[in-house]
Amino acid sequence: MPEGPSIVILKEVLEPFKGKKILRVTGNAKIDYTLIAGKKIEDFRSWGKQFFIELPHATLRIHFLLFGTYSLDKQTKPNKSLRLALYFARGSVFFYTCSVRLITEELEKTYDWEADVLSDRWNPVKARKKLKAMPNTMVCDALLDQKIFSGVGNIIKNEVLYRIKLHPETRVKNIPSRILTRLIKEARQYSFDFLKWKKASVLKKHWLAHTKKTCQRCAIPLIKRHCGKTNRRSFFCPNCQVKYI
Ligand SMILES: [Zn+2]
Repeated sequence: MPEGPSIVILKEVLEPFKGKKILRVTGNAKIDYTLIAGKKIEDFRSWGKQFFIELPHATLRIHFLLFGTYSLDKQTKPNKSLRLALYFARGSVFFYTCSVRLITEELEKTYDWEADVLSDRWNPVKARKKLKAMPNTMVCDALLDQKIFSGVGNIIKNEVLYRIKLHPETRVKNIPSRILTRLIKEARQYSFDFLKWKKASVLKKHWLAHTKKTCQRCAIPLIKRHCGKTNRRSFFCPNCQVKYI
């Protein structure tokens, strides 16, 4: 699943289409295409893992789910996977295996923009308050909670916990204050590192925990386990990642 930084990259890639008219639209998404064809794109926005294409009377909301992808200028996957294709005077964009919806709600009011870890409006104090309100939640679940850390996915989760030496099954109420501060700080910092490395195509090279077998600090095997209610893969060191109880 694309994590927040990948959506930020998509936004940058599509920037040249801002202000451009959509000449033709196709795809198998069940939406009202008359609200799209002939319309000019007013803006692109991202909120965590969701991508928005703002049109005059509605907004296209694209969520890449688990296997969603996109391509530019050329259709690279079969029609059955093609949810949406937008054609411009110069160029086109194709979205596959994703959720496409047309929404009319005001974006500003619908989403908490201060929860987006990559946004200028990211608010760490608010994130801390939200964490305090869920004392019994395991940190592996809290990090994946899009209402707190919008944009954080499983890779970022594993890498952040490894960086701050915190066991994924630690409950929020047991995390020492200074570690909680680092958790909130690194959720954002690692997302920016992810963005930088992804752009340079060197992301995987920098993974220290995600899909790794050995702890670089302790030279012992990492544990791979599906943790928490989210039940996503966690990779962690049983020695240096502390489980506070
Ligand atoms: Zn270790």
